[in-house]
Amino acid sequence: MTAIFTLLGTGGWIPTPRRETTCALLSMPEALFLFDAGTGLSRLLEERFSRELKAEREIHMFLSHYHLDHVAGLVYLPAMLKGCTVHLHPPAAEVTGLDPLEVIASIIRKPFNPTSLADMPVDILVEPVGEGEHSFCGVSVRVRRQVHADASVAFRVGDHLVFATDTSVDPGTAAFSAGVRLLVHEAWIDGLEEEDPATEYIARETYVAHTSARQAAALAAEAGVGELVLCHLNPLRSDDYHQQMLDSARHIFLPTMILEDGEELSI
Ligand SMILES: [Zn+2]
Ligand SMILES: [Zn+2]
Repeated sequence: MTAIFTLLGTGGWIPTPRRETTCALLSMPEALFLFDAGTGLSRLLEERFSRELKAEREIHMFLSHYHLDHVAGLVYLPAMLKGCTVHLHPPAAEVTGLDPLEVIASIIRKPFNPTSLADMPVDILVEPVGEGEHSFCGVSVRVRRQVHADASVAFRVGDHLVFATDTSVDPGTAAFSAGVRLLVHEAWIDGLEEEDPATEYIARETYVAHTSARQAAALAAEAGVGELVLCHLNPLRSDDYHQQMLDSARHIFLPTMILEDGEELSI
């Protein structure tokens, strides 16, 4: 089975014209999955996606966590998925300690949005996912808890994809990703900061919630994945710095990429 993976938003925290915040599309013959609803969701308005979306009546959207750079796009859904049913899969209460329906309803409500969740012109069914194995449209989806500033989860879709964003480096991610074709992992800094006393504080602060490019590459190498994509790039860093991150990662794991928003990969 071939699946098409499109990273709609390659950035974290603050959207920029080049890099919207985190959102990814996985299009398979069996189903259409979205991961996170950052501002990158807005790229679905591009004409090349509209035919596919019109043909799809049921869409599964998985949320890694509730930080706004990953959920701001929930209120865009009527623009691109009107008439569709969206099965929304946030992490379950046992992972976050929060009632998922309550959290989603607190984002999609007045005065932040003109309508409440129940009155949205898109059917949004909140169906939380706990840790472990699930199946949607016959496709296996595994969920794993990560370590972030607030609780977050990673997703594994069969042997195609692991989507792991907003996590400090976690050795368990290697086993979780073993043999997968594509690992999409966040990278917030290069990792060279660790080696310089003048900047090691940046590494210390980052590692509470995020991962370096070097750490992500080491996980990919240990897991024996096919390819690694670095995502959730830091909008405060320059293109040159992002290139340096890529170079550092490739030194450890050669098939590493940084994508542009909207770039597709066959997996
Ligand atoms: Zn984020
Ligand atoms: Zn976050």
